[in-house]
Amino acid sequence: MPESALEKKRLILATRNEGKVKELKEMLAGLPLEIRSLRDYPGLPEVEESGTTFVQNAVIKAETISEMTGEMVLADDSGLEVDLLGGKPGVYSARFAGESATDEENNRKLLELMKDAPAHKRGARFVCVIALAVPGKETITVEGSCRGILARSPRGTLGFGYDPLFIYEEEGKTFSELDPETKNRISHRGQAFRRAREILQKEIEWRG
Ligand code: IMP
Repeated sequence: MPESALEKKRLILATRNEGKVKELKEMLAGLPLEIRSLRDYPGLPEVEESGTTFVQNAVIKAETISEMTGEMVLADDSGLEVDLLGGKPGVYSARFAGESATDEENNRKLLELMKDAPAHKRGARFVCVIALAVPGKETITVEGSCRGILARSPRGTLGFGYDPLFIYEEEGKTFSELDPETKNRISHRGQAFRRAREILQKEIEWRG
């Protein structure tokens, strides 16, 4: 076994979502980490997102899995906060229109709630929080956010979730109309991931 492999620290990504695992692995490329995900631990139970904030949910996920495995764990939580709706759907973004709602159903519900809102009251922001739980240490969180305005009907074919309704004003396009590189450069998730990478880099160096 090469020496570099022996020095690798293990990191578990607290998700079973294949797309997310791929995205996170790309973001962490080049760091001396042996990256695993919950797909490598099929016996672990589903962690309930019982918090009322993104920070609480990310911390619950990271700390629960870290306690169960004794390993360093990274977890994220994200969603859309609409100004006029007092920050809703927030942590309920994925289940806005019901427990197993599709993206289309969630978007339809949002459009219905916003149908009478004038242009200057259609502000919203995406938020992403990442938590890093390291055994024996205080959990660290980082956040990224991105402001935009809500369209009156879906536009574009790329991305997922609320992307077709979220207009990034500087580009005059919805997230579904932006190529993935551009979205990653400006998005809540891209910002939070870059901050998390810096923290992880320091953690690895600190632990030598
Ligand atoms: P999760 O907590 O990262 O799995 O995301 C929760 C929900 O927030 C998703 O199911 C989407 O509805 C919404 N969401 C989070 N990030 C984005 C994004 O970048 N685009 C569109 N919707 C998003």
